[in-house]
Amino acid sequence: MKKIRIIGGGLAGPEAALQAASLGCNVDLYEMRPTRSTEAHQTADFAELVCSNSLKSESENTAPWLLKQEMRRAGSILLAEADASSVPAGHALAVDRVEFSRRVAERIAAFTTGPDARITIHREEVTTLNPDEPDTLTVLATGPLTSPALAAELQRLTGSDHLAFYDSISPIVDASTIDMDKVFFAARYDKGTADYINCPFTKEEYETFLDALTTAEAVPLKDWEGNALSSLSSRREADGSASLPPATPAHYFEGCLPIEETARRGRDTLRFGPMKPVGLTDPKTGRWPYAAVQLRQENLRADSYNLVGFQNHLKFGEQARVLRLIPGLENATFLRYGQIHRNTYIDAPNLLTETLQLRAHPSILIAGQLSGIEGYTESIASGLLAGRYAAALARGEQPTPAPRATANGSLSYYITHALNPEKHKRFQPANITFDLLPPLEEELRRKIRDKKERHKIQCDRALEAWDAWLAASN
Ligand SMILES: Cc1cc2nc3c(=O)[nH]c(=O)nc-3n(C[C@H](O)[C@H](O)[C@H](O)COP(=O)(O)OP(=O)(O)OC[C@H]3O[C@@H](n4cnc5c(N)ncnc54)[C@H](O)[C@@H]3O)c2cc1C
Repeated sequence: MKKIRIIGGGLAGPEAALQAASLGCNVDLYEMRPTRSTEAHQTADFAELVCSNSLKSESENTAPWLLKQEMRRAGSILLAEADASSVPAGHALAVDRVEFSRRVAERIAAFTTGPDARITIHREEVTTLNPDEPDTLTVLATGPLTSPALAAELQRLTGSDHLAFYDSISPIVDASTIDMDKVFFAARYDKGTADYINCPFTKEEYETFLDALTTAEAVPLKDWEGNALSSLSSRREADGSASLPPATPAHYFEGCLPIEETARRGRDTLRFGPMKPVGLTDPKTGRWPYAAVQLRQENLRADSYNLVGFQNHLKFGEQARVLRLIPGLENATFLRYGQIHRNTYIDAPNLLTETLQLRAHPSILIAGQLSGIEGYTESIASGLLAGRYAAALARGEQPTPAPRATANGSLSYYITHALNPEKHKRFQPANITFDLLPPLEEELRRKIRDKKERHKIQCDRALEAWDAWLAASN
């Protein structure tokens, strides 16, 4: 039987290690803390929750509930310990984080000595990956704050275009606050359906907007989350390591730059980029505007729209001021502001199989937030799958991916199939929602108008498929 090396002692790593050890595999578990920490971790503990203490909703027939139910049925050890350390939180599962970590450590410790000694703990930073090492499988679960040296190694293995170091989020506006008299629906060159709301600029409006954008105040440099570039720069200095990726905007997928940076490259750069007006005929003038901001529908209810390509790094108050200079958004309410923070994740649609193996190096599995999923529970779920898949591979079997109808399967399906046909639109990490699950048949949707009832059917189907998959793969 092959040996399994698991890198990362956060959420996905310990779950994967405990699953694989429970299935009889020998595991080497690597965690770099306390020798080296991340910007967010405070302790050297396994399963540290770095921010909130919530594992989301326990309300029946919600998507986070479904994910947890599947995990419970599959014997998720971290979720069992979360249940055992829960604190009152209404309809959510929230935990006492210290107790949770303590319990997880205890479960791992039980596999380090005695007759079940199958886990060896290594407190060290891993900086190299060898996909050709005989008789060894690797589960990489180093999370959104993967150490720079290992990120550089992963980049070497997967290619430079396939690793994102920063997450950039575009602002979202409340649809009811858009001045619909000033904007127009149109598709570029009238191709396809007119799904985008276009905010047209005159030359004067564009010049005013540009001046405001390029002089607006950015998030202060000392805030690591708000200023990922500076964070990585200072870590490089501290490390003095040539293996670290350089802190340049190249770390956004396909040049996903903050809008104010693009604007600084030249007064027309935005007009030839995210504010390109070509093919957008304004019905009021019969002409293309000087520049345009496009708003894309954010959700199925169409009550919110995101500003396409407007990820930025400005202070929230400054964003409100500058973005309200966009024609049609003078009185807009922003439901979310643009943000940029460090989040290392792979280009999963191009790199991963549904069994979480790197296509080019199948002896390496990727789990947790690094794989392109988002959230505590999702990371534990992904560790559970990776641990089971790695155990099957260690026995010389080819694992069957979790079914598409399930919450777990839908997450894996999303990250491995979310290829975006739109050029320059990069893969975005996701947490579990009903949007990821297969929709009900059209006929059934027409018959059942109540959303809760529809969700119940999706959950029932998911749990049935999950149970069948568990029975077949046990
Ligand atoms: C600041 C921040 C706040 C967040 N808040 C929330 C929240 O409130 N709710 C939520 O649901 N999600 C949140 N997330 C997202 C996500 O759920 C967590 O990051 C989660 O911990 C991810 O689990 P993971 O196992 O993938 O990674 P982690 O829990 O980060 O575990 C990765 C582990 O790998 C170790 N490691 C890294 N590099 C190496 C190396 N080279 N060698 C050895 N070990 C290494 C790290 O020290 C770490 O312990 C947050 C993320 C961040 C960054």
